[in-house]
Amino acid sequence: MKADDSCRWAQVIVDIPHRDIDRPFTYRIPDTFGHSVLPGCEVWVPFQQRTLRGWVLDVHDQPPENRGHFSNIEAFHPGYRLGEDLLALVPWLAREVLGTMADVLRLMAPPGPSLKPAKWVKLSESIGKEQIDLWQGIDPECGQLLQRLFRAPRKQMKFSSLVEKSKKTSPSLERLLEAGLVELVQRLPPFRFPEEKDVESSEGTPSMIEPALNQEQVAAVQAIIADLEKSHRDKKPFLLHGVTGSGKTEIYIQAAKKALAMGRQVLFLVPEIALTPQMGRRLRERFGSDVLLLHSGLTEKVRRSHWYRISRGEASLVIGPRSAVFAPVPNLGLIIVDEEHEPSYHQENDLKYHAREVAIERARHCGALVIIGSATPAIETYDKAMEGSYRILRLTERAQGQPMPVVDIVDMRAELTEGNRGMLSASMLQAIEERLRRREQTILYLNRRGFSTFVICRECGTVITCPHCSISLVYHRAGDQMHCHYCNFRRDVPRQCPQCASKTIRYFGAGTQRVEEELQARFPGVPVLRMDRDVAAEEGIEPVLEEFGREEAPILVGTQMIAKGLDFPKVTLVGVLAADASLHVSDFRAVERTYQLLSQVSGRAGRANRSGQVILQTYCPEHYCLQAVQNHNYEGFFQREIEIRQQLGYPPFSRLARILFTGTEDSLVRMVADTWTEIIREHARKSSIPLDIWGPAPAPVAKVEDKYRWMLTVRLSQRDNEPLRTILSNVRQDYDSRRGRPLPVIATITMDP
Ligand code: ADP
Ligand code: ZN
Ligand code: ZN
Repeated sequence: MKADDSCRWAQVIVDIPHRDIDRPFTYRIPDTFGHSVLPGCEVWVPFQQRTLRGWVLDVHDQPPENRGHFSNIEAFHPGYRLGEDLLALVPWLAREVLGTMADVLRLMAPPGPSLKPAKWVKLSESIGKEQIDLWQGIDPECGQLLQRLFRAPRKQMKFSSLVEKSKKTSPSLERLLEAGLVELVQRLPPFRFPEEKDVESSEGTPSMIEPALNQEQVAAVQAIIADLEKSHRDKKPFLLHGVTGSGKTEIYIQAAKKALAMGRQVLFLVPEIALTPQMGRRLRERFGSDVLLLHSGLTEKVRRSHWYRISRGEASLVIGPRSAVFAPVPNLGLIIVDEEHEPSYHQENDLKYHAREVAIERARHCGALVIIGSATPAIETYDKAMEGSYRILRLTERAQGQPMPVVDIVDMRAELTEGNRGMLSASMLQAIEERLRRREQTILYLNRRGFSTFVICRECGTVITCPHCSISLVYHRAGDQMHCHYCNFRRDVPRQCPQCASKTIRYFGAGTQRVEEELQARFPGVPVLRMDRDVAAEEGIEPVLEEFGREEAPILVGTQMIAKGLDFPKVTLVGVLAADASLHVSDFRAVERTYQLLSQVSGRAGRANRSGQVILQTYCPEHYCLQAVQNHNYEGFFQREIEIRQQLGYPPFSRLARILFTGTEDSLVRMVADTWTEIIREHARKSSIPLDIWGPAPAPVAKVEDKYRWMLTVRLSQRDNEPLRTILSNVRQDYDSRRGRPLPVIATITMDP
């Protein structure tokens, strides 16, 4: 045996679920592993009497300061090693989302089950033939075991097969172990790279068709290429702000070509799994088959195979939804985040990371450029751009100069005065009739977000809001009351409008089926396609859209399911019913989301050479959001919205955190939420950091799968959320240390909900 000083030591994050043990442990790297164990390696280590998976953060040649006894790393995964850029994200992201480093590393590991090491028995190196013969004489059973090990490849055998096949019980093995003639080792099963045929690669012939870019596009591409060519590492991200149909994808493609030509790879993030294959096809037409998809809609086998191919640098372009931001691309030169404003980039399940923010941080560590693109950037994004954190590239016109659709706003209060109690206004019906005559198509879109939950006066459009939070109250059928989901304020539904005393106050309610019925009554015999959650569950979305694409029906009625990615050249009319419904969702982002949604659906009208019309039906026609949609005026919208955010102290001027408590016993969940509230107050007082605390209140969905949910919202009135994070992580530790027996209530913290 060599002296300890010639060995190497590794700092390992062990894959344990406990929050309390979030730090690296030191292990010895056995000489036999040579220099194969490096930072980013997946390893197996002994931990509290078990063998657990872990990842190497760091390797040292010097023995650790505190030279005690260190266990050996037992095995390492030979098939991959996380890149430095990913490793650098680990402590940062763990802190950002208040998770552990193991939580983050799990996101970066290959998809599917991890390798499991098995126990092997190894003949000690010093044992020769003569010694075995000697043993044969003294103890035949032991001698036989030694014989078999001696003949086995590399003089080792799986523990289970050695014991089983020899039909010997373990005592003889025990004796050999004690005598130091054999040793137990953990070994991973032999690793072979999974090879699975790529489901889509058959379409991989690049085509030559490349549109000549318009002036704005040329300018954008030039700016991007110039930056890619520069050698500096800390590249400021570009925000590509281009109206719908302005040809943003063409810009991404040209940027990607440049990065590839420079020998770097490209990561292309799309907001949803459903959009991945679509974008995949489009990019394969231009780049050929070394485009690989990575998303959970693929079978595990395909996903694993893609993952390892990517990690070996065999894909030049990787496309996927938010989780693909951790794709093991080895030499990343460019990250594209398309539709950066989409909420789906914010992980809703376990670790609440935001893929856009992770992309930007990752790029810093590998010197990649980031382009985030949108027609309707998130308010926070545009604010950062104004502040100078991003460079803006603008595409103000559609790619071939097609006009933006004409947007008309219809005041539904006036319809009511004229005796129309239906869902479709007179002008909407007239516009549909015109399309039927001209053999063009219509999409009617029912804005269902926050549907039938807010209470509105049909006379004057007043919406009942919380007196403390400037947020609309949500109607709950149970108890026939309205609740504030931020502060738990409650009240009965008023008999008459507090503004105009009208008695027509009621909660909003109607559905796609009713629209369908009204259409059939008005246009008998005209086929109408419907797409909502019921239809989607029964028939799926694709068949209905295909039918509509084949022009088998002139009208499609649907919910927000039909908002994204549709491109039907014959559609010249898009009608939005209840355009304002989502304005009143109890969320400070409600207006922003409405603007984004309405712009997106408006973008569906008049995509080809026919010009488009959009009709927005609403009870609040003068709302700045609808006005801005009508005028295609994002900047104007942004200015109004940012002013209001500032007045009300909402992000980006403040930072929020939401803590969700879940458990099977309502009173217990409530109690834990109250305790947390108390501890947060204490910590805020101690550190003199003024926090606003709203709640605890029942979550918007107060019970899910028999688990009760309470919510606490905390606001820090400044842009930097570091103090908020520090307080919350201290509060969690404090809570964990105070409680005696752990209570069956889970607290999940979401930063920037
Ligand atoms: P966006 O992503 O901005 O909504 P797309 O990139 O999808 O827009 O472009 C819209 C359409 O215009 C696509 O069919 C695209 O092929 C086409 N297009 C883009 N740029 C040009 C151009 N310079 N000349 C002609 N057509 C273009
Ligand atoms: Zn009123
Ligand atoms: Zn309130």
